[in-house]
Amino acid sequence: MTFHILTIFLKIFDSYLTESLVKRAREKGILAIRVHDLRDFASGRHKKVDDRPFGGGPGMVLQVGPIYRAVQSLTRARKKRRVILFSTRGKKLDAKTAKRLSAYKELVLICGRYEGVDERVARHIADEEISIGEYVLSGGELPALVLIEAVSRFLPGFLGKRESLEEFKGSYPSWSRPEVFVPKKGEAWAVPKALLSGDHKKIEKWRRQK
Ligand code: SAH
Repeated sequence: MTFHILTIFLKIFDSYLTESLVKRAREKGILAIRVHDLRDFASGRHKKVDDRPFGGGPGMVLQVGPIYRAVQSLTRARKKRRVILFSTRGKKLDAKTAKRLSAYKELVLICGRYEGVDERVARHIADEEISIGEYVLSGGELPALVLIEAVSRFLPGFLGKRESLEEFKGSYPSWSRPEVFVPKKGEAWAVPKALLSGDHKKIEKWRRQK
């Protein structure tokens, strides 16, 4: 799976995508991530990618031209590619959507900024609009990272043996050592007895109840 990120803030992606599970997956060749600078697709000397909204109003809007040219420049496996625009008006991201998206060969992630993106991107370029929740962020970069991680968990080989795909539905609370933690004030915080029994059937049942 290749994730193409279209953004004007490339550096945001440097640290996160070079750590942890995503890093390991990139090294193993399970996924590839390409960050593209929208300014490379701007016309004119000033490499402008935004302009004022028609009809007035505050702020600037990302223009359709650079986004169009950027998406055009990438495209090879059109059929197995999905172009996603991050938008506060999009469909809310959930595990089901992430799983569905994991079947594509390429995901193109368009990160909005400022007051948003010229509506022609949503209407003519993107296959779908996705929101990561009912709040407004200053750009689509964090949503892109969230989506990459949520989708990647469904790619074969991304998770180690010990991590389970069913985690979302079957998630249960965990405890670790020490068995008893003594806070400065009040009673000790003990680990539930059921987990210390060594009886795996009993533990399984207890976890399911939780
Ligand atoms: N004025 C716009 C907000 C723009 S925020 C509005 O009211 O909808 C700038 C960009 O950040 C958006 O274009 C989008 O790409 C991204 N963004 C902000 N919040 C988001 C969210 N909850 N989910 C997905 N993308 C978001």
